[in-house]
Amino acid sequence: MSNVDFDEVDKFAQLASRWWDKNSEFKPLHDINPLRLDYIKAHCNNTLVNKKILDVGCGGGILSESMSAQGAQVTGIDMAEAGLEVAKLHLLESGLEVDYQKIPVEELAKTHGGQFDVVTCLEMLEHVPDPSSIIKACAALVKPGGQVFLSTINRNTKSYIFAIIGAEYVLKLLPQGTHDWDKFIQPSEMDEYARQANLSLKGMIGMTYNPFTKVYKLEDDVSVNYLCHYNKG
Ligand code: SAH
Repeated sequence: MSNVDFDEVDKFAQLASRWWDKNSEFKPLHDINPLRLDYIKAHCNNTLVNKKILDVGCGGGILSESMSAQGAQVTGIDMAEAGLEVAKLHLLESGLEVDYQKIPVEELAKTHGGQFDVVTCLEMLEHVPDPSSIIKACAALVKPGGQVFLSTINRNTKSYIFAIIGAEYVLKLLPQGTHDWDKFIQPSEMDEYARQANLSLKGMIGMTYNPFTKVYKLEDDVSVNYLCHYNKG
């Protein structure tokens, strides 16, 4: 009955000590974080101050901490214990506050329905058996009128070449085996899951990487990595 792939979660647990090393396997997440944080803030009336935010699949807390630094009250959940331990330890260094918990999002949805202004679930949906169930739980947890941000990787020939061959084998930005192409999600599939959960699409933007300049950008091209903004009607 569990919607957790423990082999996937274990991969992240093994790397946990390196979550805050900006030159580690997590470098891409550190590099894209300011971009996605700006996008989230821009779509929340330009402020996260006092917003109640749930970060699903928070890992070591890269996004959670950055939202807390903007004045949000953040809860971060993940199923990798080791990552959560690192996330909690890092609060001692940053002096920020985040409530980290190990709980499946579907469980939290049973007790905390409609309690969050914003729910984020970034770079996680491609690691779970049933992404639609995660999206449904995210939608249940957000208040009516609240915002949901989801990101993942598109599934097509280009994403196989860029996100698997390029990122894992040629550029070695990520360890080999990080991603399974079959689990990538096309924007139309994402939208179908979201619509079934009563979320309406407000915006979708691509996250691109130029291997020559090593610069990440948000732009209209959603052929590989992309980020979506939904609203609960
Ligand atoms: N969202 C973070 C981390 C992405 S890495 C960021 O973008 O910076 C993917 C994370 O998802 C890992 O920490 C992994 O442990 C977690 N994860 C994978 N499957 C999960 C599940 N079913 N429930 C909660 N977390 C999960």
